[in-house]
Amino acid sequence: MNGTVYIFGPCSAESREQVTETARGLRAVCGGIPFIFRAGAWKPRTNPNTFRGAGEEALGWLKEVQTTGIEVATEVATPEQVVAAMKAGIDYLWIGARTSANPIAVEAVSRQVAEIRNTDPESSNLKAVLIKNPVNADPELWLGNIERLEKTGIPVMAVHRGCNHQPCWKMAHVVRTRRPDIPMLLDPSHMSGDAEQVPALMTKISELDLNGAMVEVHHRPDTALSDARQQITPGQLRDCIETILDFPRDIHETELNWLRAEIDELDDALWNTIAARMEVSERIGAWKKAHSVTPLQPQRFGQILSQRMAWAEQNGLDAALVEQVMKAIHQESLKRQK
Ligand code: PEP
Ligand code: MN
Repeated sequence: MNGTVYIFGPCSAESREQVTETARGLRAVCGGIPFIFRAGAWKPRTNPNTFRGAGEEALGWLKEVQTTGIEVATEVATPEQVVAAMKAGIDYLWIGARTSANPIAVEAVSRQVAEIRNTDPESSNLKAVLIKNPVNADPELWLGNIERLEKTGIPVMAVHRGCNHQPCWKMAHVVRTRRPDIPMLLDPSHMSGDAEQVPALMTKISELDLNGAMVEVHHRPDTALSDARQQITPGQLRDCIETILDFPRDIHETELNWLRAEIDELDDALWNTIAARMEVSERIGAWKKAHSVTPLQPQRFGQILSQRMAWAEQNGLDAALVEQVMKAIHQESLKRQK
C-alpha cells in the first residue's frame, strides 16, 4: 500500500441530504488530499431501539457520492449485506467491532466476498476489506480475522478502534508486530467516543507510524442519529488534518512510541482503578459512620497488606514497593472516610 489512507464520513447513512451535505463539506476541506467516504448503511447497535442506518437505500446515496470521483466504504455484517454492497459497486467494505468478535460471522462474510470475486469478478469494484479490532481486547482473534479475510484474495487492512472507548495499544502493538505487512488505520472516533479527543489521538498516526485513519465526520453532529458525541464537523477535521500533515514522522522512535503508548494505557488503567477504589472506600466510610465504626481498622488493614505482599512476591514484584503503595492508598482512603 502506498501513501496514507483517510476514510471520513458519518457513522450512519441517515438521509440522502445528510450523505451529500457531509460529502460536500469533506470535499471542500480536504482540498487535494484524497479520501474515501464512509457511511454505515446497516449499523449493528448495542441497543435494539436505536437507529440502525437506512439499509439498502443508502447504497444509492453512496453511489451518488462516487459520481463526484470519491471512493466509498460501508460496513457489512452478513453475506446478504456483502451481496448488496458489492453489487452496488461499493469500493471498500469494513467489518465492525461487534462482528469482528464473532469468527463465524467473519468467515461467512469472507466466503461471500470470495464467492462473488471468483464467480463474477467484473461485477465488483472492491479494493480492500477492513477489519476492526473485536470489542474485546483479543489480538489473536483480530489476527485470525485478518487471516480469514485474506482468503478472499482482496487486500486487507486493520482498523484499531479500541475497546470501551479506550485505546488498546497493547493489542494493536501485538498485531502490528506480527503483521507489519497489513496496513493499520486509527479510528479515533470509536476509540474515544468523544469528538474533543479526536485531534489529540490523530497525532498517534505519526507517532506510531500508522497507515491512516477512519474518522467519523457529520455535517451536523448535533443532529446525528448514531454516535453523535464522537462525530466532528468537516471544519474540525480540517484542523486535525493540518496537525497530521505538520507532524514529523521519526521512524527511529516508532517502537519506543508504541511502548510508551502501552505505558500510558497501563497508567490510565492504574489510576482509573485507584479512583474506583476511592469511590468504594467512601461508600464504606458512609457505612462505618452509620454503624458507629471508626475508619481505621488495623486488623483488616494488616490482612490486606500481608495478602498483597504475598501476591507481590509470587508475581516478581518487590514486596517493599507494594507495602509503600498500599500504605499510601490506605492513608488516602482513611482521609476520605473521615
Ligand atoms: C462504525 O464504524 O460506525 C462502527 C459501528 O464501528 P465499530 O464497529 O468500531 O463500533
Ligand atoms: Mn459509529
